[in-house]
Amino acid sequence: MAAVNETIGFQREIHNIENSPFRTKFDNIAGRMEGKAAIGCISDQDPQPLLIRSKFGTYAITIVGMIANADALAERLLSRSGVIFQGMSGNRINSAEILAALIEEKDTIEEGIRYAQDAIEGALCLLLLFENGHLVCARDKAGRLPVTVGKNEDGFCVSFESFAYEKLGFEPYKELSSGEILELSPTEAKVLYEGSKKKKICAFLWTYYGYPTATYEGINVEMMRVKNGEIMAETEKRNGTLPDVDYVCGVPDSGTPHAIGYAHYSGKPFARPFIKYTPAWARSFIPSNQKERKKIAKMKQIPVHGLIKDKNLLFVDDSIVRGTQLSETVDFLYQNGAKSVHIRSACPPIMYGCKYLNFSPSRSEMDLLARRTIVDLEGEEGLSHIDEYCDTTTERGKKLRAAICKRLHFDSLEFQSLDGIAKAIGIDPSELCTYCWNGKE
Ligand code: SF4
Repeated sequence: MAAVNETIGFQREIHNIENSPFRTKFDNIAGRMEGKAAIGCISDQDPQPLLIRSKFGTYAITIVGMIANADALAERLLSRSGVIFQGMSGNRINSAEILAALIEEKDTIEEGIRYAQDAIEGALCLLLLFENGHLVCARDKAGRLPVTVGKNEDGFCVSFESFAYEKLGFEPYKELSSGEILELSPTEAKVLYEGSKKKKICAFLWTYYGYPTATYEGINVEMMRVKNGEIMAETEKRNGTLPDVDYVCGVPDSGTPHAIGYAHYSGKPFARPFIKYTPAWARSFIPSNQKERKKIAKMKQIPVHGLIKDKNLLFVDDSIVRGTQLSETVDFLYQNGAKSVHIRSACPPIMYGCKYLNFSPSRSEMDLLARRTIVDLEGEEGLSHIDEYCDTTTERGKKLRAAICKRLHFDSLEFQSLDGIAKAIGIDPSELCTYCWNGKE
């Protein structure tokens, strides 16, 4: 976090919260830092905010998103005399520093941000804090990620998720358009660049990683998930594929609201056959070694025996990426006496790695369960029939589902369709990024 005060200037604290709750590090930060303007970010990759001394004055910078061509941009910048990078994390150059170096190439902040957004492949939203307490925020050029602004009588607040400032008494003021750049003083929001009305907002925000209370494009995440589950059950009822189960359950946490919707529509009771025990494990703590990761994932799952033994269960998960964790969850249910475990994915099979946000990073696209299974079924040739494999009514679609069931010990498997997801979100499908499902840019 960085704050600025007229007399003492910038103050900054960056903490590692990999293995400790946020609160333990940032408690009483308002008592330690002085000023009327501040920015901050929780980042898995780049320690932030950075403090930059530039021809535009000193400013703090923080970012959300990914620069996919960071190496190429850094090389180009380094080839110019006088450019050095200091904010290294391991072997990586801090993305915020690359962004600042790009901005520096132009004569004004607005031109610099637009120039950087054109040069960047991926998606990057940013927030700058200047010595005079003004903020400049910008949304990524394609509008894949949200940036929202709130207002109260004292000024403005910018966030990825509006509920963050609504809790603090700010009223929603606006959602930025794709590429829009806004300068905020305590009294004025000045549009530096209007951006574009076209957008490709990440559909995964709703299905998986958005916080349940967040609202993007006017659509609340929790409500979308419940509706998505209802649509899945409705489709299965129509197709006659709804299994006869004792309980409908969600893979916690984000699978749960999809499951609630599925249970509503199917008329089957919702239950929680295992509960995640998390107080001992910080959300962001991910041990680097696989054995340790498995052990901790297991320790977090506490069974409710009466809801598992001899029961037919249907579990809804938010998505199936590699399938490793889901397969372990299903084995855990069988070890605890489940009679059958049916799996439903709240989104279509993931066929392409995300090249915009580094979402669920994999060594290769062949780590993706659906893709790997297709290649196992009919070699590389199968990848030219991805549309058929996604479609549950085709022979290839049926084979894909059956092969995954066999591999991961599911009794049945179905995926939400792309149309179903778009209907559950409810905005024009052309405004959604669905690349990881259909490969369409
Ligand atoms: S590719 Fe997938 S995860 Fe990446 S932005 Fe698009 S929808 Fe989101």
